Order: sequence, then structure tokens, then C-alpha cells
Amino acid sequence: MDKYELETHVLNRYVLGLEMGYKMLWQDIGSPDQGREYIGLSGAGRCRRQQAFPVSPAEATPLTVAQRAIFKDGFLFEADTLTRLEVGGVWIINVGRTVRHPDLEIIQGHIDAEITHPPTGKAYIVEIKSMRGYPQQKTLGGKKHNHVAREHVGGWVLKAGTTRAVQPEYWAQVQCYMWASRAEEGVGDGCIMIYRMKEDGRIAVEYIEYDAERAREMLARVECVAGSHAEAMLPSCEYDPNSEKDWQCLYCAYRETCAVLPAGRVPYADLASRKEA
Ligand code: SF4
Repeated sequence: MDKYELETHVLNRYVLGLEMGYKMLWQDIGSPDQGREYIGLSGAGRCRRQQAFPVSPAEATPLTVAQRAIFKDGFLFEADTLTRLEVGGVWIINVGRTVRHPDLEIIQGHIDAEITHPPTGKAYIVEIKSMRGYPQQKTLGGKKHNHVAREHVGGWVLKAGTTRAVQPEYWAQVQCYMWASRAEEGVGDGCIMIYRMKEDGRIAVEYIEYDAERAREMLARVECVAGSHAEAMLPSCEYDPNSEKDWQCLYCAYRETCAVLPAGRVPYADLASRKEA
């Protein structure tokens, strides 16, 4: 085996390892590149059309191998983070629980984990995001760590309100999870948001309180997507996919498809012909 073959062998095995680890750990969740049969509460803060694309017959731009590897890496990071917490003594009572809208089965969410704090008997949902580079800097508040309330050997305690201010989509997501979990009489005293930094393994933590009013508002957006889907219509754009200013579109996996469709609602029946036009 020459040097190049050896290097390629290692890289190939690494990708396979990601695939295998992903399959073993997250079988029940399904892969991000599979078509979805539900509208995810995880997207509550996103553009309504973006939320609808995965359940619509519009073919989304398929994920590249690199993108899939990144997604899978994220799932493995979640599992690794939970394992460390459990080994360290955090009382994890559930991993990967699916919550459903009580009236609209098509709306679902997957809570990463639930933990309890035995002395108080309270239970919290846990959401884990792994990040590096710009998202990491943004979360910590730049190089000076302006969003950090307290430095800790394991990472950082974030100032209250950081997630809501700098990662509003994540904040909306966990509010909806808490709403759905409470509706099922599940866990919902609050949420522990964990940002796992890929570069050094440290975590940033923020406790997020349940905000019933805002959760209901965010949920109404998802319900609206479900209503459109029931009418076989793709919702209108909330941003301009052709504009460089709308960062939501810059990071949207469906931008290419969206850009060739009219900005208003589009009947599912017209999607194929509109895309080809
Ligand atoms: S490209 Fe922009 S407008 Fe279109 S679905 Fe994505 S976020 Fe929404």
C-alpha cells in the first residue's frame, strides 16, 4: 500500500465510521437526506416555506457527501456529549424522545435528551448543538466572550438571554419542544441548551425558561405550514432567495429550488412544471 492509498484508506474508513456510528445510534430518527413525513418543530423559527420543503413533492437539492458527513458528525457529537454527561453523573432519563402536536400528527419534534435533578425533582429537556468557527464565536460573543457569564474548566456559562438574542431559531425550537412535551404531560420545567465546541470539546451552557406566549406564536407558524400542506400548497417565501442580504436564504438548503419558483404560494401540482420552466 503506497502513501496515497493509505491516506485514502484512512479517510474512507473515517467516512464509513461516521455512517456506521450514525446508523447504530440514530436509526429511529432517520437520516437527514431521507424524505420527511413530518413537519419538524426544530424549524419553527425558520421561513415557513423552508419548513414545508421537506414534506412537499418539490425535490430539494440533494445533500452532498460533505454535507451528509457534517450532519452525521453532529449526531455523533450529540451522542458523545450525552455519554460524557451520563458518565459524569448527570441523571439522563430519556434520549431522543419524539413529541407530537396533540391535534396535528404531522407536526413532530425530537428532543435530544431529558434530564432530572433529583434534589428538586424537576426535569428539563436538553438540546445539543455542535459548532465551530463563526457560529462558535457568535455564541460566545466574539473573541472577548461577551456573552459569557462565567468561565468554567468544562466550558462556559452563558449570560441569560444569549440563545434568544444570537441563536433565535434554536430558542424558538426549544420553546416548541417544551410546549409539545408539556402538552403530552412530559418534561418541560425548562431547557438546558448545550453548545458543544468541536475544536476543544468544551461546552457552553444556558438555562432557558419556558415562555408560553412565544411558544404558542412559534407553534402557530408551524401549524400554518401544516395547513398549507393539507391544501397541497407550498407557502410563500418569507425572504428573497435571490438577495445576498437575506442570510436565511444563503444558508437554506432549498435556495436553488426556491429561487425558480414564484414568491407566493405554489400548488404542489405545479411544482414540477414551475421548476422546469
Ligand atoms: S430560499 Fe429563502 S425564501 Fe426560499 S425557502 Fe429558503 S429561506 Fe425561505
